[in-house]
Amino acid sequence: MCGIVAYVGNRDAFPLIIKGLKRLEYRGYDSSGIALLEESQLKIYKKKGKVSELEDQHTGKDRKSTIGIGHTRWATHGEPNDVNAHPHYSNNRKLAIIHNGIIENYATIKQNLIKKGHVFLSDTDTEVLVHFIEDIQQETGNSLEDAVKLALREVVGAYAIVVMSVDHPGQLIAARKGSPLVIGVGENEFFFASDATPIIEYTKDVVYLDDYEVAMIRDGKLTIQNLDNTQTIPYIQKLEMELETIEKGGYEHFMLKEIFEQPRSIGDSMRGRVKADDAHLHLGGLSNYLDKLAEAKRIVIIGCGTSWHAGLVAEYLFEELARINVEVEYASEFRYRNPIIKEKDIVIAISQSGETADTLAAIELAKAKGATIFGVCNVVGSSIARATHAGAYTHAGPEIGVASTKAFTAQVTVLTQIAIAVAKRKGTISEEMYRQLLVELENIPAKVERVLENASTIKEIAYIFTYARNFLYLGRGLNFPVALEGALKLKEISYIHAEGYPAAEMKHGPIALIDEDMPVVFLATKDGSYEKIISNIQEVKARKGRVIAIVTEGDTLIPAMVDFVIEVPKTHEMLTPLLSVIPLQLLSYYIAVMRGRNVDQPRNLAKSVTVE
Ligand code: GLU
Repeated sequence: MCGIVAYVGNRDAFPLIIKGLKRLEYRGYDSSGIALLEESQLKIYKKKGKVSELEDQHTGKDRKSTIGIGHTRWATHGEPNDVNAHPHYSNNRKLAIIHNGIIENYATIKQNLIKKGHVFLSDTDTEVLVHFIEDIQQETGNSLEDAVKLALREVVGAYAIVVMSVDHPGQLIAARKGSPLVIGVGENEFFFASDATPIIEYTKDVVYLDDYEVAMIRDGKLTIQNLDNTQTIPYIQKLEMELETIEKGGYEHFMLKEIFEQPRSIGDSMRGRVKADDAHLHLGGLSNYLDKLAEAKRIVIIGCGTSWHAGLVAEYLFEELARINVEVEYASEFRYRNPIIKEKDIVIAISQSGETADTLAAIELAKAKGATIFGVCNVVGSSIARATHAGAYTHAGPEIGVASTKAFTAQVTVLTQIAIAVAKRKGTISEEMYRQLLVELENIPAKVERVLENASTIKEIAYIFTYARNFLYLGRGLNFPVALEGALKLKEISYIHAEGYPAAEMKHGPIALIDEDMPVVFLATKDGSYEKIISNIQEVKARKGRVIAIVTEGDTLIPAMVDFVIEVPKTHEMLTPLLSVIPLQLLSYYIAVMRGRNVDQPRNLAKSVTVE
């Protein structure tokens, strides 16, 4: 997520940081800012919008400082605007901080600090952290470095931070947990950045900071300690990658990077919300609406494309867990009908960008008919986030690849959390099932990791089917929407015609297409439909179709009857889509690459569909 650039040395920090922030633009952001030490004063300049707009504000001005911290923000707490942009000052304005990530327990810390007289200007979790550091410094009389460590020991969440202080010119303190941070080591100069792209033209010597490490530059020297004060020797590596590859985190395409990011992004979409040990599930945006959802007679879910598929998954979840009648609608159809919205109906609108024109129009229509609208979006402060009554962000981080991957799994994770929370409130699931679901949810990121370990097997299968002209994807129950999503992914990036179908529906038509040239992907995990799907596989095999089956680890029955097998770990049946979709994303990706397609920007497609 977002970008950090910091510098201390002999060069002019302002232009260097601006240039570095531009290098990080590919990560996606909504605002930017820089803190400098000018004439012994700590100055912060920040602005919503592009880095070039920040730069333009300063043309012709002599920004003299050889130390500075800069940031591109991708809002998670508080809408994107000038005030919420980073850096943030501490209460006495002696410290400035930049931060990537989320401080989960910021609200409690903030309350305590307000009681002590702290005044907050922004809505961010980040501002709370820098006030907290100042407070600890004042209370304990400790050094800034120790105060940073003490604060970070109290903090729950993910962060990469850099702090500077007006009282310590020449000193930068940085730390990370869960968000990346690289240190560039030059001659009498040091750099911090989210990846090496802003650093590479100045030095090839870098140190990758590890979780729970705190790096300090003081008197031209770098020291690294753990949060518990143990010293570590910085391990300096030589950068050998090309700039372009570094931007993509070493992956060939953004889409691949985003597929591999899913253990983290799924984790982020549960961050601060799920704690299985304490049987805790809490979505802030939901709290005032939980009763309304629990009382709902009907939920109407609207979305387009991949978001519509996430809605179909949610249909199964809400019906099964919370026993609420659900209808899933294409936003583009819904908006031009005269839909019947009754009292106690709830509308859930799903959109990655939060700007999808059809979904926005559908929301306005439903609102005019008196519905309560709940939003599930990835982009904080987006039009849909503002147009809805309440909502839950997916926190997947910016998605650059046009074909959605990590945004889909984050949407499904958030919708699953909502369904479980409503079911709990309604009492439609037992306490035991509730706990079991939370435990399994927490285990999902590690299990996704295991699916990703199968990438080379999937690549080999992709190679065999590179030149297929059609594909059929079949699944039942919760795996039916996954089949649709798998087919859509393949269409989008490889331009192969593909269709998703409920497996049992095949015999009512598509079965006529099956011959030895027709690859059929079966979502055949061990769930309630397992026996039935075996019959469907037999029907395809009897007609010489070539079957690729996604099966549960350890299954021996289906592998014996199909041509190719990809395993996914076992999980609770309700969570299956979060695992079974991953091989389908990889299969499409590898086929598209082998066909020489422009994977990240497929023809005719746009990332954010702001026209109808
Ligand atoms: N949570 C912080 C905010 O919303 C940081 C977001 C980021 O990583 O840019 O301001």
